[in-house]
Amino acid sequence: MASMLTVDGIVVLERCVGENDKYISILTENYGTLEVSAKGSKKITSKNHAATQLFAYSTFCLRMSNDKYYLDSSEVKHDFYNLRLDIKKLSLVCYFGELARHAVLATNRKHEHDIMRLMLNCLYFLNTDQRSCEFIKSVFELRFVTEIGLVPQLIGCRICYDYEADPMYFIIDKSRFYCEYHFHEKELEESYYRVKLSHSEFEALQHIALSPIDKLFNFRISDKALAKVNEVTEKYIYTQFGRTFRSLNYYHEICNPFEKGQTS
Ligand SMILES: [Zn+2]
Repeated sequence: MASMLTVDGIVVLERCVGENDKYISILTENYGTLEVSAKGSKKITSKNHAATQLFAYSTFCLRMSNDKYYLDSSEVKHDFYNLRLDIKKLSLVCYFGELARHAVLATNRKHEHDIMRLMLNCLYFLNTDQRSCEFIKSVFELRFVTEIGLVPQLIGCRICYDYEADPMYFIIDKSRFYCEYHFHEKELEESYYRVKLSHSEFEALQHIALSPIDKLFNFRISDKALAKVNEVTEKYIYTQFGRTFRSLNYYHEICNPFEKGQTS
């Protein structure tokens, strides 16, 4: 017998099937990500058309049968419409969706309250142009790994605990920080990625990982420091997951069309 489930969630991935149907991945608060068959929802006249759009935040009424979910009815709570009009923003949020879906499936996590809140906040700030793509990207990357328990050791130098050291060295693939003095002692330590950070860049990483979520977006950073922080958070994601993401590569192609032209 089929049972029913009502959930709030964000559509983080869609896969079209034929002319009218699609599968959607919904990031939910209490059920991880759900793979749902949404028959007929591609039709513009479908009652489920709006709620099943990519990155819509909606209430879904699902029917469960033979361990599969089917969409019955839905109601949009917030459609982040502007995101779908801007290819750079869209490719960035697709990366967030791919990351969330990969990590949540890999760890079989169910309770995603904080990840949902992080995702909704990032969508909101991007949709309303309150922060740049680069800013939101770094915030999402580092806070996301923090929420799933992979936060780097951001207390300070691994040896002397100095958190005001300037510069600070981050051995990205080992998730360790060192002050200049202890970095030189340890510089033979094998690592693929090491980066020298100014105090303000280190502070930005601390803020993103450790501040309360309602203060998460309240910090200022220069463009130069943000570029460095972006490089660090992206490499940290790469070393933690041991893979790259197709949507991230696409995002970089959008940001740097010239480089794409060189390779094609
Ligand atoms: Zn030290």
